[in-house]
Amino acid sequence: MGLEAGKLISKTLRSIALGLLLALCYALLSYPSDAERIPLLRMLIPESYGMTCHGNVCAEDASHLNEALSLYIDVKQDLSSGGVSLKYFEPNFLFCVTQECFFRFVAPTEREDFSDTAAVAAPFFGTVIKPHVWNKNTVAHEMIHHIQYEHWMLHAYDMPQWMKEGMAYHHTEHDMVFMSQDIVDLVTRYKEWVGEKSLREALDASTVWFNETSTTETAH
Ligand SMILES: [Zn+2]
Repeated sequence: MGLEAGKLISKTLRSIALGLLLALCYALLSYPSDAERIPLLRMLIPESYGMTCHGNVCAEDASHLNEALSLYIDVKQDLSSGGVSLKYFEPNFLFCVTQECFFRFVAPTEREDFSDTAAVAAPFFGTVIKPHVWNKNTVAHEMIHHIQYEHWMLHAYDMPQWMKEGMAYHHTEHDMVFMSQDIVDLVTRYKEWVGEKSLREALDASTVWFNETSTTETAH
């Protein structure tokens, strides 16, 4: 009996590990050039690139590690009290105190230079947070993105921006006054769709919505 249960657990763990490996390979291949892929791979081994880590939480400056950790733990608790959490693995959260640190893990491209970006959540790789935006809103926004990736898996790449960004903005405490018009439009569209749903309910409903409408909606 114990042996059978052990075998089942080991088989399940192997399946999850294989699933995560496939998702990581797919995520890696979705970036068009090595110039974009290599910085992302650094997110997986942040200590080799100047970060000090405790588990999956890292700070560029060791003296800020406790601040980063308490932010991360607070946000995790807030989200889990609403029934939402990362189930399979916790990606690295990298807290930078310089711009150089941020761009060590994120490559500017012709499509996006990330100059106005507070943080980046790369599916299945991790998150890098710029200096001066270390706050619960930013961390919650990025953690919601990782929960989306885990929940949607490969469909994460097909979800429209209004669903992805609208959800991350709407269920945190971002003030719309400080958003660009592009973001306001995405959040407005999301609000129309989500109504009074909680984040937990919205995640489940988004998968149903995607399955029903995936032929007419595309991501960008
Ligand atoms: Zn976002």
